[in-house]
Amino acid sequence: MPGTLDPEVRRALAARIRYYNEMGIYDFYRQPVSDPTAAAIAEFQTEVEDDPESGRSGDVMTPRKAALVRAPVAVEETEFEIAVSKPEQAVSDPVSALKIIREDLGDCTRCPLHRQGRKQIVFGVGNPTAELMFVGEGPGADEDEQGEPFVGRAGQLLNNMIKAMGIAREQVYIANIVKCRPPGNRTPEREECETCSPFLMRQIAVVKPKVVVALGATAAKTLLSMNSSMGQLRGRFYDFKPAGFRNDAQSNNPNWTGCKLAVTYHPAFLLRDPRQKGEAWKDLQMVMKELGLKPPAANT
Ligand code: SF4
Repeated sequence: MPGTLDPEVRRALAARIRYYNEMGIYDFYRQPVSDPTAAAIAEFQTEVEDDPESGRSGDVMTPRKAALVRAPVAVEETEFEIAVSKPEQAVSDPVSALKIIREDLGDCTRCPLHRQGRKQIVFGVGNPTAELMFVGEGPGADEDEQGEPFVGRAGQLLNNMIKAMGIAREQVYIANIVKCRPPGNRTPEREECETCSPFLMRQIAVVKPKVVVALGATAAKTLLSMNSSMGQLRGRFYDFKPAGFRNDAQSNNPNWTGCKLAVTYHPAFLLRDPRQKGEAWKDLQMVMKELGLKPPAANT
């Protein structure tokens, strides 16, 4: 049983957690730690979990599981509740919740992409209660110009893919792993993906789709935390829960506990190698079956 933290340390931790929240980070994971701050956070979390009032005694945290941090003293509890609750969790309306996440993102300078020529942040677009969500890699030149994901040539192909599934673009939600255009359309660095993707995770947790389709290796690897090839990643469903997701009574769908995730080729890759369109169609058919979708009749 760990000792109780010194009030000064506790206050310092509250300030540190608030700092992380301002960076868009709300989730803290138990890991083997060597640095004193991380060790203190881990000890603090253990205290909370051992607190019978927390109702979580003996709960073992696993990677990607959100820390539920509550302090036993009323005034500090308020301090920590404010610090660790994601602001969108206070509203049940998904449109308002997405707006809150966008406001939280602000004029983001959290990763190097903010100073590498972006014109604007490309947040995401579509139906806030979509059953199907597409996640790409990052904005290109057209997306950077228009502020909307998938509006260039790759976007046109994605629209055709969606139409072939028997639905319209307006029925799905579309976003990217990083929200600022990487210069020269380079692949975003891992650090950039890791810094930006918590906001995407929050968007997914608000939309609560039945299926997420990861478009390309960067999206798939970031969402699944796997470093496999496209050949290994495609052709099956994964059980997916956005990192840090916690359901609660205020949720717009309290029964949502996660969704399926499928991987297919990025439309930009399919433009470069159209021979792979048949493979992508197989992936989409798998998704259609899961969602009960039928392709449109030939004359529509
Ligand atoms: S890519 Fe994401 S984390 Fe990086 S500056 Fe843009 S919005 Fe912020």
